[in-house]
Amino acid sequence: MSSPTRILVVEDERAIAVGLQDDLAAEGYDVAVAADGIEGERAARAGGFDLILLDLMLPNKDGLAVCRALRESGVRTPIIMLTARAQEADKILGLELGADDYVTKPFSSRELRARVRAVLRRAADAAAGPGVFERGDLVVDFNRYETRRAGQSVALTPTEYRLLAALVRHPGRVLSVSELIDLAWGTGIALTDRVVYTHVNNLRAKIEPDPSEPVIVVGVRGVGYKLGE
Ligand code: CA
Repeated sequence: MSSPTRILVVEDERAIAVGLQDDLAAEGYDVAVAADGIEGERAARAGGFDLILLDLMLPNKDGLAVCRALRESGVRTPIIMLTARAQEADKILGLELGADDYVTKPFSSRELRARVRAVLRRAADAAAGPGVFERGDLVVDFNRYETRRAGQSVALTPTEYRLLAALVRHPGRVLSVSELIDLAWGTGIALTDRVVYTHVNNLRAKIEPDPSEPVIVVGVRGVGYKLGE
C-alpha cells in the first residue's frame, strides 16, 4: 500500500484550519496544521509534505514571505495560497513567487478538494516529466528538477520548469498564451498575459544563450511561444 498523501495546512484562523483538516482527512489525506508563518515554514522545510495550503494573512510571517523563503531555499512542494477576495494583487504576486494556485475565501470544501486534486495531479505529471532536455551547453533534468549550463547549476522555479516542460512536450507546435496557462498553471486559472510574459522572460534570462535573441523559448508574434528547433 502506498503511503497517504500528506498535506500541511498553514492557517491561523482555528475554525478554518479545523474545517480544512476534517475535510481533507475525510478524503484520505494525512493533514498537519501550523498556526503561524514561522511554524509553517519550519514544518514545510522539515519536508515530507506533498502539498501546502498556505494562508496569506498569518501572524509572525505572512504567507507571501513564507512562500518566497521556501522557494528561494529550494523547497518545491506545491503550494496553494488561501486569499481573501480583496487581496487580488497578492494572488498575482503569490504566483510570481512560486505558488502553484490559489483559492479565494470563502471557498466551498468541494472547490478546495478539486483544487487540491488538480495541483497534486499536476505535480505527479511534472514528476513523470519529459525526462531530460538538452540544448547546446544547457541540460534540464525534469525528473530531478536540476538545470545546468556549461556545468554550472541554474535555479529554475517550479513554474519555469512547467513552462519549459509544456514546450518540450509539444515540439514543433506553437502554444498560445492561454494554452501555456492551462499547461503550466492549470485550467480555470485567471492569469493576466503579463504574468506569463514575466515568467517567460525570467526563464529566458536563465537558459537562453542570448536572452535578447531567444532560440529556445521562441516567441511567435500574435500567437504565443514554441520550442526553438
Ligand atoms: Ca489568516
